[in-house]
Amino acid sequence: MPFKIKEIAAKSIIGTTQVPSADYVINPYTGCQFACMYCFASFMGRFVGETTNNWGKYVYVKTNAIELMEKDIQRLMKKNPHPKIAMSTVTDPYQGVEKQYRLTRGILEVFVKYQYQGRVGLLTKSPMILDDLELLKKIPNLEVGMSITTTDDQLSRFLEVKAPLASARLRTLKKLNKAGIKTYVFIGPFLPHMKLKPELIDNLFSEIKAAGTNDVKIEYLNLPKYVRPKMNKLLKEESKEIQEVYTTSQLKKYREQIAPILRNNLLKHGLKLKFDEIIHHITAKNLVE
Ligand code: SF4
Repeated sequence: MPFKIKEIAAKSIIGTTQVPSADYVINPYTGCQFACMYCFASFMGRFVGETTNNWGKYVYVKTNAIELMEKDIQRLMKKNPHPKIAMSTVTDPYQGVEKQYRLTRGILEVFVKYQYQGRVGLLTKSPMILDDLELLKKIPNLEVGMSITTTDDQLSRFLEVKAPLASARLRTLKKLNKAGIKTYVFIGPFLPHMKLKPELIDNLFSEIKAAGTNDVKIEYLNLPKYVRPKMNKLLKEESKEIQEVYTTSQLKKYREQIAPILRNNLLKHGLKLKFDEIIHHITAKNLVE
C-alpha cells in the first residue's frame, strides 16, 4: 500500500491537554511517517478513520494550521502569564511531509511574530529541525526535546522503523546546543533491550553529556492493548530473553529494578532528571503488579 498523504482542514490548532508539562498542545499533522513500533500515539488514527495497525502508513495534513495559529495565539496571549505550549505530542513536527508543507515552520514564525513569552516545547527525532535553526533562536522561551532512545543504530532501526537514526539525532543535538538552543533529551520509551545490556545505558548517557545536554526526561515503555500485538509480532523471532524482558517491562518489579540503575547512571554522567521522576503512563486498566 503506498504511503497516504491527505490534506484536511482543522477546526482549531492549539488544543488543551492532559500532558502535565504543558497547558496546550499543537499537532499540525495527524499520523507519523516514522512508524515507531512502540508508538502509543497510534490511537490518534480513530480521529481520522484509520486503524492503529495503519500507523506509520498515513499522514493527515492540517493545511490551515498556520492560519488557525494566528487566531489561536492572540486568544492565548490575553492570558497572564502566557500558557505553556508543547509541540508536537502525538506526531513528529519534522517528519518527511514537513519539507513539502512547512506547517511547523509557519507555526514557529507565528511564535516569533508575536514574541510569545510562554514556554514553547518542541519534541522531535529529526535533523530537519536544523532547517529552522534561525527561527528557533528568535523564540523567547523555547526548549527543544530530542527524542533519543539508544546509541545503537541497529536497535533504533529495529524499533523506530523509519525514523532518523539515533546517531543522526545525537549529531543534531550537538548542533542545537552549539547554536545556544536550550535542549533536553527524551529517552522515551526506555527500551527494555537496555536492561539486558546496561553498557548501552552508559553509552547513551555519556553521548548525551558529550553533545552538551544536561537535562533528560525518561519514560518507561507503555504497552497498551492496541500496541502489544504489534510488538509481540515484531519480537517473535527474537530470543526468549528479549521477549521476556518486554513482557516484564510492564511490571512494577521491573520499574523498581531499573529506576536505581538509571538514577546512578544519571549521577555518574552529571545529568539531571526532569521532574525528578521516571514517567510511567500505565493506566489502572493495563497495570500488571
Ligand atoms: S516519532 Fe514519535 S509520533 Fe512518530 S511514530 Fe515515533 S513515537 Fe510515534
